[in-house]
Amino acid sequence: MKYKSVYASTFIICIESLSVSKSQRNQRKDLQNMEAILYLFIFCIGSVFGSFFTLAVYRIPLKQNITHERSYCPNCNHKLSFFDMIPILSYLFLGAKCRYCKQKIRQRYFLLEILSGIVFVLFAMSLKLNIFTTNLSTWAYFVFGVLYFATLFILAGIDKEKFYVEKTVLLFGYIIETLYIIYLYIVEKDPNMYRYVIYLVIICILTVLDTVIFRKKIKNSYPIEILLLCMFILTFTYETITFLTITFTLLAIAIHLIIKKIFKKKKKIVQLDKKQKLEIPIGFYLCVTNIICLLIANFYIFYS
Ligand SMILES: [Zn+2]
Repeated sequence: MKYKSVYASTFIICIESLSVSKSQRNQRKDLQNMEAILYLFIFCIGSVFGSFFTLAVYRIPLKQNITHERSYCPNCNHKLSFFDMIPILSYLFLGAKCRYCKQKIRQRYFLLEILSGIVFVLFAMSLKLNIFTTNLSTWAYFVFGVLYFATLFILAGIDKEKFYVEKTVLLFGYIIETLYIIYLYIVEKDPNMYRYVIYLVIICILTVLDTVIFRKKIKNSYPIEILLLCMFILTFTYETITFLTITFTLLAIAIHLIIKKIFKKKKKIVQLDKKQKLEIPIGFYLCVTNIICLLIANFYIFYS
């Protein structure tokens, strides 16, 4: 009799533990599925942003409207339909050609859409983003971070193509940062607000210098544009990451120069003109290294 009851109770305990672990397993599986859906969604948003970046980089230097006008094929000027503009998929289904004139679409657009999706997903992963466990302040940081990355992407693209830092895009970035600072002040009661006041004063001084003094005397305002870009980076990513960003940018520029020199020797190009010699997209390197540094730093902070 005694043995029987012991057997019975152990049996019940076993069944209970089995059922608990099964429901726990199901719960964990559901969580993983939710996480996969969240990251897929973030990838899609990233690729939509990526497709917008290519449009912005193409249109902003031409002073064309980026929000109201429909997209068109740069070759035949045919307005694109909704199905021609789905990021990544349209490129694949149309066989990398314009539907109307069969002109090849540049592979770069496709790669940028994928890359932008990947950067967004990496950013979410670096913050361990999750629907259930992530708190409000991390979500806020993620949303502002995505807009910050968007600004950097467009600035990098324009600087790479045209060798200047577009001020309207930079202004958009400053507005995003201002909203973030206001959020930090009101919601999170960040005690380090004085640093933003210092940054703001420096930005104002640089802007005044740029518009009042430099524009009249020096035609090339690129150095001041780069300083304004550095301040933009400093405001969002703070001192350490900005320091790393500048260090790696200098390294990247050194490598850029070395490769250019080797390339020049190999091809024996007949004298580049003077203007071309100076053109190093410093802003492009700053933006790219900053994105990489910020991602690595976040991974380090959230996973250690
Ligand atoms: Zn076309």
